[in-house]
Amino acid sequence: MTIAELVRAARGNGSAAIRAAARLMTILADSPHRLPEVYHAAAALDADSGDTLQLPRFLLGLTGAPGSGKSTLTDALVREWRGRHPDRRVGVVAVDPSSPFTGGAVLGDRVRMMRHATDPMVYVRSLASRGHLGGLALGVKGVVRVMGVLGCDVVFLETVGVGQSEVEVAGVADLVMVVLAPGLGDSIQLLKAGLMEIGDLFVVNKADRPDAARLQADVASMLGEAGSRAGTYLVSAEEGRGIGALADGLEILGDRDGASWQERRRRMIEEEVRDAILEEASRRLRGTLAGLRGPDAPVAAVLDGRLSVEEAASRVVQEICRRG
Ligand code: GDP
Repeated sequence: MTIAELVRAARGNGSAAIRAAARLMTILADSPHRLPEVYHAAAALDADSGDTLQLPRFLLGLTGAPGSGKSTLTDALVREWRGRHPDRRVGVVAVDPSSPFTGGAVLGDRVRMMRHATDPMVYVRSLASRGHLGGLALGVKGVVRVMGVLGCDVVFLETVGVGQSEVEVAGVADLVMVVLAPGLGDSIQLLKAGLMEIGDLFVVNKADRPDAARLQADVASMLGEAGSRAGTYLVSAEEGRGIGALADGLEILGDRDGASWQERRRRMIEEEVRDAILEEASRRLRGTLAGLRGPDAPVAAVLDGRLSVEEAASRVVQEICRRG
């Protein structure tokens, strides 16, 4: 199937739609440069209905050490969201080689059944961080945008809070929740190691454990000292405690900051387009320079003083344009 056929099928219903969505996400995770084809296909479908292209309304990052409860919390938040907005689709992207996710209706390599395993309104995709060197954030963006085109209102993006690529991935999100839990060694130390800067919200999970309230107090005082405006929440993902309050907080932030998130994403897409143009330009430049050898070539002319560097540069650009 072509991308256009997949987009059309994925916008439909039933298991064929889910298979098409899975296929699209795999293609876009591996080849994010094909995203324009997805948008093009979606625009062609939307032309009749007059809809504009969709990005998810919310892109929420969850990060934190393994074992802090990110998957359990995502699961609880997805359930909460589905309860509040039964007609809206939800996406989950898990970036973690050991991620237990792929419940929902879809779509990854490893399977742990989530409660939404039979919920066709929940799309889940896991991406292994290995084998994606440098391109992981791009792959994630590709998957997230496919989810947007397929009507996901909110996308949860789960990463392990270590390593450069994970921090980059967290940077894709509108809002980053740092998930901490008692009993995982020194969580405060973890915050000092860089999570503090990327967190917009700090969620202390496992509130059912006696040492959780103490950890929340420590985190709150540390954030206060740093002058951070980030809020803290105490939840028990397993027992569902505090999840409603956290979801309320997220909705309030979405209402307040949604417009600036959209603006930020628009700028990110602009940057991507600019990077792609620069990359294409330098590829063509290398090709053109390789073809311009000999005594009259611009580089040779600069070396023996016949042309200034600026004149040579403009000749090469003219040559690139001439070749098209
Ligand atoms: P992740 O590695 O951050 O995704 O963490 P998981 O969601 O896999 O959870 C790690 C462990 O913590 C699992 O054994 C969960 O059952 C447990 N866990 C998650 N949430 C809670 C909670 O609210 N309370 C308690 N006591 N355990 C929890």
